[in-house]
Amino acid sequence: MKLEVSKSSIVQFENRRQLYLAKIGHEQMICLQPDNILKLAGEQHEIEGQPVFIAPKSHENAEIIRNAVPWTAPSPLNSGGVSFGLGDRLGIAAPGHISAVKNYQAQPVFAQQSVRELDLTGRSYEEIIDAATWSVLQEGYRLPWSADGDHLKSGEWVRKACEAGCTMITADLSDTLHPEYERSLVSVLQEDYKKIDDSYRKRIESEYLSKQFALVSGRSLTFTEKELMKTVLLYRDAIEFAESLFQICGEFEQKISFEISIDETLYPTSPEAHMFVARELQSRGVEFTSIAPRFVGEFQKGIDYIGDLAQFEKDLSVHQAIAETYNYKLSVHSGSDKFSVFPAIGKICGNDFHIKTSGTNWLVALKTIAAQNPVLFRQIHFAAKKAFETARGYYYVTTELDDATDIDSLTDEELTNLFDKPGDRQILHISYGELFKNPEMKDSVFSVLTDNLDSYWAELNLHIDNHFTALNVRKRGEN
Ligand code: ZN
Repeated sequence: MKLEVSKSSIVQFENRRQLYLAKIGHEQMICLQPDNILKLAGEQHEIEGQPVFIAPKSHENAEIIRNAVPWTAPSPLNSGGVSFGLGDRLGIAAPGHISAVKNYQAQPVFAQQSVRELDLTGRSYEEIIDAATWSVLQEGYRLPWSADGDHLKSGEWVRKACEAGCTMITADLSDTLHPEYERSLVSVLQEDYKKIDDSYRKRIESEYLSKQFALVSGRSLTFTEKELMKTVLLYRDAIEFAESLFQICGEFEQKISFEISIDETLYPTSPEAHMFVARELQSRGVEFTSIAPRFVGEFQKGIDYIGDLAQFEKDLSVHQAIAETYNYKLSVHSGSDKFSVFPAIGKICGNDFHIKTSGTNWLVALKTIAAQNPVLFRQIHFAAKKAFETARGYYYVTTELDDATDIDSLTDEELTNLFDKPGDRQILHISYGELFKNPEMKDSVFSVLTDNLDSYWAELNLHIDNHFTALNVRKRGEN
């Protein structure tokens, strides 16, 4: 038996005892030298005259290691500073993410998946956190990182994510919002508003009507009667629901950062509504670290921002002022590849925001496959087009099937150029769930990537580094 030790993984314990990861044949294993001080499940061996305890990378062993080696366990999000969600869809991207993030003053969220992503990839929160633990151990990343139960819409899922060890919960309030009131006539608003109980209305009116809410920016917000009725009807249920999810988080031992997501709706969040949600939650004792409003324009998956840049800057400035006034940070969702708005986000939010990227590592994986195995990539592109109508049921995209490039006309060398085309990017981006329903294709994807991990990680490092640079995130050691 020969051990190929991953040097960056070595952890020293007392009395020259060591823990490290090593490849034995094709498989990476946990090694303890000379003996099993952590009480992992595994077997004692002798390799080249040295005693080594060898254990598999199982969930049970991951739990033990997280307890014994603190930096391999997730932490809550820092309340200030930049934090960066890096959902790892395949469970093999994190080392590439680590090589980018380690150079910047940003707290990474290496484990971040929504229920939708779990369903489409057939993974669990336990597996996602374990994958992050192994990557962090392998790369020797010793700074705090988080695990986000992303876009959770029910108490049941919040519980599952917390039980698995998530240290961040993103409460998705979209199912309890009432966007139908966005365009309602005043008479409809009045009628429905009257149905709300008296004491609640009285309190709200005395607190919000004919008042000025000064923001740190110098601007102040006010509510007209109509605006207040609308806001209450739109958000009252959502606020109550958020409170119930927050209480569930409190049942767990670990400290959990709570994010409020009201971004998955068609209408931009008005500044008044944003402030109302924040104030009401705070008055109920809901402690949240971030809010994701729905900004003007469109943040679609895998492509640049769609909309008017000047208008976005204005909108972002007000939301940022609200977040600063009430002391939490803004969260920008579907934040991958939004290169045209990154400078504005960096300028307006300074070094205090959360941003989520997720599927972009899947696109980088496909780009790696296009470069390494054009035959497989052509099959994937074909299958993604076939799956597009189904896949667009899960994601909001404006791409149409006609936007796909006819790749038969491209040489193998030209295939990676597809990743500059928004249409092909989106078709490929949203197709993973449908592609993975074909086990042969799933196996081929993983096998090409595992054979080319170094190129995959190098490409990811470059891509994520471009995000940090455009956002003007401070490098480590910089003031
Ligand atoms: Zn979102």
